[in-house]
Amino acid sequence: MSAAGLPEHTAVIAGKNVATGQWIDVLDPSNARPVARIARCGPPEVHAAVEAARHTYETVWRFTDPVERSRLCRRIAEVLREEREELARLETLDTGKPLGQARTDADVAARYFEFYANAVESLGGETIQQRPDRLAFTLREPYGVCGHIIPWNYPLQIAARTLAPAIAAGNCCVLKPAEDAPLTPLRLAALAERAGLPAGVLNVVPGYGEGAGAALAAHPGIDRIAFTGSREVGELVMAAAARTIVPVTLELGGKSPQLVLPDFDAERAVPQLVEAITEHAGQNCSAGSRLLVHRSVHADLVAALAERFAALRIGPGAEDPDMGPLISAKQRARVLGHLAQGARDARVVVGGKVPEGEAYAEGFYVEPTLLDGVAPHHRVFNEEIFGPVLCVTPFDTLDEALALAEHTTYGLAAGVWTSDVTTAHWLAQRLRVGQVFVNDYGAAGGVELPFGGYRRSGIGVEKGTEALREYTRCKTVAIRSGSPAPSAPC
Ligand code: NAD
Repeated sequence: MSAAGLPEHTAVIAGKNVATGQWIDVLDPSNARPVARIARCGPPEVHAAVEAARHTYETVWRFTDPVERSRLCRRIAEVLREEREELARLETLDTGKPLGQARTDADVAARYFEFYANAVESLGGETIQQRPDRLAFTLREPYGVCGHIIPWNYPLQIAARTLAPAIAAGNCCVLKPAEDAPLTPLRLAALAERAGLPAGVLNVVPGYGEGAGAALAAHPGIDRIAFTGSREVGELVMAAAARTIVPVTLELGGKSPQLVLPDFDAERAVPQLVEAITEHAGQNCSAGSRLLVHRSVHADLVAALAERFAALRIGPGAEDPDMGPLISAKQRARVLGHLAQGARDARVVVGGKVPEGEAYAEGFYVEPTLLDGVAPHHRVFNEEIFGPVLCVTPFDTLDEALALAEHTTYGLAAGVWTSDVTTAHWLAQRLRVGQVFVNDYGAAGGVELPFGGYRRSGIGVEKGTEALREYTRCKTVAIRSGSPAPSAPC
């Protein structure tokens, strides 16, 4: 505890709590008050964490039976489930998201460990047909030490998403959580230890991006880097990885389109279109932030959405409203900047400002906002806002819809709303995005569904069995048989 009575969280290196003497306050986004302090790590702590991970990998983890790794991951899932409510409340306190959404995050985090516990048991290479006197096969081997840098929007889910396949596959990890929401990743490390994970398999170095994050990305002892966050920082991480020649996964931003055709099912679509942009106040990489709607149904759909947006309950996450605050004052200022520009370029149908009233005075709230008549040359059409802002653009033809969808440089996800399977298929084939949902939107946890951006939304894949392959590399073994071949049974 700090002198002010705040819980203090240090780095976790080789199973030990390591303080740095410097602290960062963690704020509750619903009222801007500090709720905890985390150690501010820098290059020395990152170096110690990488060394600890290396030592554990070389002496313990790489020789662990996959069945044992699987058992430990399943045990971690069980412990996460036992602590579901505590984790959810911590996530809400830290990120501001509604409690119901945080409970889902805790469930999904447990599912990641369970899924990779199962998947690793059937991980294997292949045999290769070659000359009769040669036996050739491939092995899937762990990389060794993986660095993981994660953002603040889904800290618990994303920590589990990136750590579970890496650990199950036999890697040791150094995790750098986001400075704005580090509490559940730190708690996850403590719970993993309680589940029996050997010290040093999972090390956590909280701190700022320029300090701990940059040191981790550039560390020569790292064999692989997984980064989830903004495109700008993704570029820096990739440049650092280029200097040490290590593979990177980059899970970056998006500006995901929802394409609504005249024959769509409004009853099914409308609630999901709203949820896709208001879940965690739109701070979601695959938020459905652009609505591309056929002109024949445009006016009715905008009216239906406006009604829903206006009825959404906004409030502190702990009260489980429809929408909580944004993560920080900085993020709110960013979103409000986009809204000011959007109001100059397009028509604000509903929302567009900070909600009025005493209840919203201290937290980082913004109204859910519908902008209509957004054109492809507008900034809000192209840039990721990362807030509860839906940009509406009408179209007349399927080709035009596709061109609008492709107009941004992102390619994370897309939704297609139509009753015609041929149209759905035509669009799903052509959209340059990593995930296409038809008459549905969002992975809803989607632990089993591979997820990775096309174009500037990233490189590589997380989730599903694909991720297990990403955290292993391929070694080929070719064995020449003796000559002459044995003629009699021994
Ligand atoms: P961010 O890029 O600012 O920060 C992400 C992480 O990188 C944080 O831990 C931060 O401390 C660290 N960091 C910052 N500077 C660094 C540096 N120079 N070197 C190394 N690390 C550094 O992103 P954010 O604001 O935390 O998150 C929002 C972004 O994340 C959005 O663009 C969103 O779309 C994206 N995101 C993508 C996915 C996905 O799976 N594709 C998921 C969630 C969020």
